Amino acid sequence: MACPHCGTEVVYYDVAVDKESLRVIDVFQCSQCQAQLDKRSLERVWQVFYDSELNKTHKLVKYKPVVVSYQIGRSRYEKEPDARDLTLLDEIQATAIPDWFPVHRMPDGERKRKDGYDLKGITHLHHFYFRRPLLAYSRLWQKVDDCPDCAFLRFFAQGSNLGFTKM
Ligand SMILES: [Zn+2]
Repeated sequence: MACPHCGTEVVYYDVAVDKESLRVIDVFQCSQCQAQLDKRSLERVWQVFYDSELNKTHKLVKYKPVVVSYQIGRSRYEKEPDARDLTLLDEIQATAIPDWFPVHRMPDGERKRKDGYDLKGITHLHHFYFRRPLLAYSRLWQKVDDCPDCAFLRFFAQGSNLGFTKM
């Protein structure tokens, strides 16, 4: 997001989330100009990229990874992404996805009007995914396709789909 008073990019998680309670703070300060801000007052920041699936440039709301959640054995941990994590994400972003996934244009409808996902640049199905989950999910779908008589696997894969999306 960007501060509407000074144009400084602010990471919403950094300025608007209380790290103790993980609750969103209603009113918070711009880290640059100290203006009082709330979510509605912020401007969206866009990221233009070459969408190889659409074969043209596209713009989506800019995202920044803020927390890495991971597990060792049964214990869960969190950390801030370090330079190595960010480099890995850049490499994944540049990786071609070998397996099939749909790139259909989202149809007009009630959900589009209600959720306003097109206001974040999501115009096609694949825009609902970050690159890494899309790589993983398309591979999972291919594995399901390769398995004869595995309708239950398709049911499982479809049921887990939402967890792979930005939603
Ligand atoms: Zn500001």
